[in-house]
Parts: sequence; structure tokens; C-alpha cells
Amino acid sequence: ATPTSIMAGSGRAAELGILFKGGEQLESAHHIDVVMLDKTGTVTEGKPSLTDVFTTTLDEAEFLRLVGGAERNSEHPLAEAIVHGVKDRGISLPQAEQFEAIPGYGVKAMIEGKSILVGTQRLMKMNEIAGQEDAWLEVVADLEGQAKTVMLVAIDGVFAGWVAVADSVKATSKAAIARLQAMGIRVMMMTGDNQRTADAVGRQVGVADVLAQVLPEDKAAHVKKQQDQGLRVAMVGDGINDAPALATADIGMAMGTGTDVAMEAAGVTLMSGDLHHVANTILMSRKTMGNIK
Ligand code: ADP
Ligand code: MG
Repeated sequence: ATPTSIMAGSGRAAELGILFKGGEQLESAHHIDVVMLDKTGTVTEGKPSLTDVFTTTLDEAEFLRLVGGAERNSEHPLAEAIVHGVKDRGISLPQAEQFEAIPGYGVKAMIEGKSILVGTQRLMKMNEIAGQEDAWLEVVADLEGQAKTVMLVAIDGVFAGWVAVADSVKATSKAAIARLQAMGIRVMMMTGDNQRTADAVGRQVGVADVLAQVLPEDKAAHVKKQQDQGLRVAMVGDGINDAPALATADIGMAMGTGTDVAMEAAGVTLMSGDLHHVANTILMSRKTMGNIK
């Protein structure tokens, strides 16, 4: 494309809130084969709220106090959702004596001499947590089938219950994804969340190709895997976790509503976080590149 057409294209894009770091992004977006979407904060609002609580033996308020105390030290959106939900119930949170975040898995804390673990089924397995009954696991599966994220809780090495959060899909995600698919682009979703929850979100927005339980350090490898098949990949994300994948992709698109780290790693920022702008970016690039020939 000529410098003039690039400038004109970038100007039109900027009016829509699509900010390019350089002219090369506007050029490279036209031949994208695959769009890989992060789930939380990209396809969904990224503002989860606490919806379900289950405890095996403890009083619910005491259970939530301990879980909230463990999560108050974490900066994860899931942790914020839990802390908000607990405070909303008028429960004041204790201070943890020890705290450790385990990225992609959950958190571990020591509160009033009790060891508290909150996170994934994998985290429970890694810590050899016993006492999960089949009937409970069926309820968990059911909640996950409703697109909720369930965080399991263990206290002093014994399964103690769970908290679940719901994060609604953005109003525009489904239509925007359908548009990309109609343009001949393959749309995939990638998340650290479990397969059942991820599939349920995928169903809500029309994405069948769902990679779940992807650890933060593995997101970029999944982008690379597509590229190794000769496909050109656009990665769309908002989190710190997404930064390496955004940098690896042929074009990285960050949500302006997300973290600074994601925006720094990406070539394009979509100010409003509306997925329609992924399709708009590609269309604009096709148009700009078409102008020259
Ligand atoms: P995402 O791609 O949804 O941001 P992450 O890779 O950050 O996912 O986390 C993967 C999973 O690990 C979450 O779905 C959740 O089950 C668990 N997890 C992560 N952080 C926390 C936390 N602070 N408390 C409880 N569970 C967590
Ligand atoms: Mg995200």
C-alpha cells in the first residue's frame, strides 16, 4: 500500500477507536486466516460476580470469610469478584498470614493457622485434596455447563466446598464472531478456564473451536502451532497472560478496556473492547491493500 492509503486507512480506523502502532499492522491484517480470542474480558465482559456458594460442613459466613481472606491478596478478576461478593454479604475479611498466587491454578493462603486453597480441580489434585463426593462433582459440572467458573476450596487439606462466579458475554460478541466467520475466517477461543465452562461460553457465541485449561505460559505456543501450519493468526486479548501470545501473533489486538501490558504487546488497540472492531480492522486492511493494485 502507498503511504497515502495507509495514512487514510489509519485515520478512518482511529475514528472508530482502532489504534495502530504502525502502518505494517494495517497492511498485515488483510490476510488473516485465524482469529484466536481470549475468553475472559475479550468475549465476556470480564466482570464476574459471585453467584453460588457451597460448603460441606462450615457455616457459610465463616467459609466465605476464609475464602475472601485468601482472595483479597490476589489481583485476579476472579478474586475481585469473590471479595466483592463476600463484602456485599456484610462479612469482614481477615488478613492472611501467608499468601501465594499460583497463576493458572488459584491461590494458597494461611489464615488464623488454617491452610486455605482456592482454585481449579488440578490445584486440588496437585495438593492431594481428598473428600470430594461424586454427587458434589455433578453439581460442579452442572454449574460449569451454565458457563459459570467454579473455584474449589480446601481447608487444612480437606475438601470444604466451592464458590462460583458468572461473567456475562458481551452483547456484541455473537454477531461480531458470526461476521468474522462469514468473512471466511476461522474463529477459535483460548482460556485458562476449564473445558466445560469454556465450551458453554463458546456455545453462547457460536465458537466450537475452544482451547481450555491453557496455562498462561502456553497461550503463545498455541498461536505458534497455528502459524506452523502456514496460517496467519490474529490474537485478541486483554490480560497480562495474553501478552506473549499477542506479541507472537501475526497481528495482536488488545482490548482498550484491558491491561496496559496487553496493549504494549499488541500492534493494535481496540478502544471500546467491541469484537466488531476485529472484523472492521481486517476489512479496512483489505480495502487499504486493495487500493494499491
Ligand atoms: P483466564 O484465562 O480465565 O484469565 P487464568 O489462567 O488466569 O484464566 O486462570 C485459570 C483458572 O485458574 C481460573 O479459571 C480459575 O479456576 C483458577 N484461578 C486463577 N486465579 C484464581 C484465583 N485468584 N482464585 C481462584 N481461582 C483462580
Ligand atoms: Mg482475559
